[in-house]
Amino acid sequence: MTGTHDDTRATLEQERTQLARRVDELTAGGQVDDLEFDADFADRGQVAGEQGENLTLADSLQNQLNLVEKALTRIDDGTYGTCEICGKDINPERLEAMPAAGLCIDHA
Ligand SMILES: [Zn+2]
Repeated sequence: MTGTHDDTRATLEQERTQLARRVDELTAGGQVDDLEFDADFADRGQVAGEQGENLTLADSLQNQLNLVEKALTRIDDGTYGTCEICGKDINPERLEAMPAAGLCIDHA
């Protein structure tokens, strides 16, 4: 058996879809909302703050999305579940908690 990681792949693909959708919402939705609040100075300031937070959030979601895509690639090439730095098997409990993990606990 080569170990196809079918369940993990399904989990990761689902996560990828959700992350991509949220990144889309956070980055594409903001511009339009801003115009509607133009009349009220205080609200506009608040919206700008929220947009900043959204961009920070979008950034971290994008990073997570990159990890998920990398994990999917590693399932394809058969290196999934091993540390990218030392090549040792990643603790299964760690993988279960973070399916996109590409590093062992020592290198995380
Ligand atoms: Zn390692």
